Amino acid sequence: MIDSFGRRIHYARISITDLCNLRCLYCMPEEGVPKKDCREILRIEDFVEIAQVIVELGIDKIRISGGEPLVRRGVLTLMEEIGKIDGIKDFAITTNGVLLPKYAHALCEAGVRRVNISLDTFDAEKYRMITRGGDINNVLKGVSAAFEAGFHRIKINVVLIKGFNDDEIPRFVELTREEPIDVRFIELMPFDSQQNFAYGRYLPGNAVLEICDDLQEEPRDDPSSPARYYRLLGAKGRVGLIEPMSHGFCGQCNRIRITADGHILSCLHSKNEIDLKPALGNRDALKTLILRAVSEKPMTHRLSEGKLSERAMNNIGG
Ligand code: SAM
Ligand code: SF4
Repeated sequence: MIDSFGRRIHYARISITDLCNLRCLYCMPEEGVPKKDCREILRIEDFVEIAQVIVELGIDKIRISGGEPLVRRGVLTLMEEIGKIDGIKDFAITTNGVLLPKYAHALCEAGVRRVNISLDTFDAEKYRMITRGGDINNVLKGVSAAFEAGFHRIKINVVLIKGFNDDEIPRFVELTREEPIDVRFIELMPFDSQQNFAYGRYLPGNAVLEICDDLQEEPRDDPSSPARYYRLLGAKGRVGLIEPMSHGFCGQCNRIRITADGHILSCLHSKNEIDLKPALGNRDALKTLILRAVSEKPMTHRLSEGKLSERAMNNIGG
């Protein structure tokens, strides 16, 4: 699929639930999200149908996200079914890691090759605070389980939060020296429901380069990747910067997003979305709606002008 600005769209992020077993301050309201009527949320077979149709349309990379994808009932069946679709070159998941000890091995068996695990601090008390109650040991066990399961690539996602984890940047960077792991620092985005938290806590990605001035820029292996990559001399892993606020990467954007309630978004930050539910069961109708969403994909997000999706991050899948 080619959008109206000539970008090839071949990557889909599918959020399979809005629910989560954590309550990160920058992502979720304290009380969690209201549980939706099951008729509003796609069934496992609906996700499989949409995945098959988007692959027919040229999507070859699928990432499953949430909410927390591993809390979704039937997640393994879904992963197994998507893993069977011919034409997917890259099948990945983003998770908070808490349930990886239970699922890592089975995810690998289902064909998931890459896992991104979110961890914003090494400090148990700070972790409990930022996630509103999470136990860091569960994530650390999840990271170990991911290594044991044999994923091709493991990435750690760290949201940069001023006054919270800027002092831990060197420790995260050091992790890449001995482990074949990519650590990616993500700029904090002000999603509507959490703007109070984001206010005053934004830290630009460049802060990482100022603090760790021995990082060397890596050549881009994937021009459409939102991350700029760096490496410590001789390190096994890389350090990535994802900078939606300070460095737009929309020009190379190659993705669409499907939400747990069956909407397609052509931009993470756009209010334009199309409900795919009425077209379920009719592949031609689904294709028409998906192609329409791609043709309406905006050239760029307008975060700096305060133009935001009304959905919170847990609702879009990051
Ligand atoms: N629950 C999973 C997790 O935490 O990895 C998957 C969903 S989460 C919404 C996906 C990614 O979005 C995580 O790495 C999370 O840290 C990031 N994220 C959530 N809210 C954000 C925000 N306001 N700004 C920047 N990144 C955010
Ligand atoms: Fe849950 Fe992930 Fe949002 Fe944290 S960032 S509340 S783990 S969905």
